[in-house]
Amino acid sequence: METILLSGTDPATPAAAARLIRQGQLVAIPTETVYGLGADGLNEAAVARIFEAKGRPQDNPLILHICGPEQIEQFCHHIPQRAYDLAQAFWPGPLTMVLPARRVVPRRTTGGLDTVAIRCPDNAVTREIIRLSGVPIAAPSANLSGKPSTTTAQHVLHDHNGKIAAVVDGGACRVGVESTIVDLTEGRPRLLRPGGVTPEQLLAVLGDLVVDKAVTAQVDKDAVVKAPGMKYRHYAPAEPVVIVSGSREKAAAYIRRHFTPGDRVLCFQEELPLYEGCNPLAYGREADVNTLSAGLFAALRELDDPSVHQVYARCPVGGGVAYAVQNRLKKAAAFHIIDAEAEE
Ligand code: AMP
Ligand code: MG
Repeated sequence: METILLSGTDPATPAAAARLIRQGQLVAIPTETVYGLGADGLNEAAVARIFEAKGRPQDNPLILHICGPEQIEQFCHHIPQRAYDLAQAFWPGPLTMVLPARRVVPRRTTGGLDTVAIRCPDNAVTREIIRLSGVPIAAPSANLSGKPSTTTAQHVLHDHNGKIAAVVDGGACRVGVESTIVDLTEGRPRLLRPGGVTPEQLLAVLGDLVVDKAVTAQVDKDAVVKAPGMKYRHYAPAEPVVIVSGSREKAAAYIRRHFTPGDRVLCFQEELPLYEGCNPLAYGREADVNTLSAGLFAALRELDDPSVHQVYARCPVGGGVAYAVQNRLKKAAAFHIIDAEAEE
């Protein structure tokens, strides 16, 4: 199959992409978070193609993308007031809510669960594709399963050229990490995955938030977890990644002491001068965490090269969007962290 590259600025693109979606084909769509591998979320055969193309475990559910909050009720029931409050505050935007699923949503889409993850993306072309297709678009991140997520159309082609019908090129994703996921099916709202909508922003609207343990620690692959996606190895380049925490100077001293040819350093732009001769790659500026979230996956993909032995990574500290960057980097590192302050 030839994969068509559709330009996000071509006025004919939404209709062309929507036609393919209605035919049950796979179309990669740009969003503000990452590129999604989209299909008709109500069509089991189409959804099965997503799992096949990604090599995704069947129990790892997809997110249903809708074009406006008025569509929630078509796919969810027992919707609490706080879901409407969150939609009002953050949609369109990088927030996914988990709610009880109506029967119209196939269990293949929800990974067998009776809940569904739903969001309205902040990308006008993609919302128009959803509107014209007349169905919600189920889409996980468009990377091959386990690999760093796709934040450009070129990343998608790298992973899926010749295997999917089309990619809609909407340029580089603004947020760069996947959506924040909040579970609203229990007594207390629960953060299942941090993202562009921060825990602080959620708390301001909800007044209460539990952070799921899968956010902060490695989860066993046989564990029963709220967000099945959290237990799988994720975002990881081919070689081991280790996070080196601590001050700039102590971390650089540690890394320079342990660096051997074939290793790479993933750092902040401000730190590049400290790693001369260590083949450093900067993924953004420490002074602007949004550049770090936007650049992280492109950098991890660049480091996904069999000739690299080991990656030493620097991770931002603090809350806000840094919390999401920490989560993705820690997962890429399988929670392997060395504190340079404690090492001499
Ligand atoms: P991805 O789009 O690749 O980021 O994957 C979607 C994420 O949403 C995965 O981590 C899933 O575990 C999570 N997810 C989707 N549906 C549900 C659900 N019903 N309950 C909990 N988590 C979900
Ligand atoms: Mg993913």
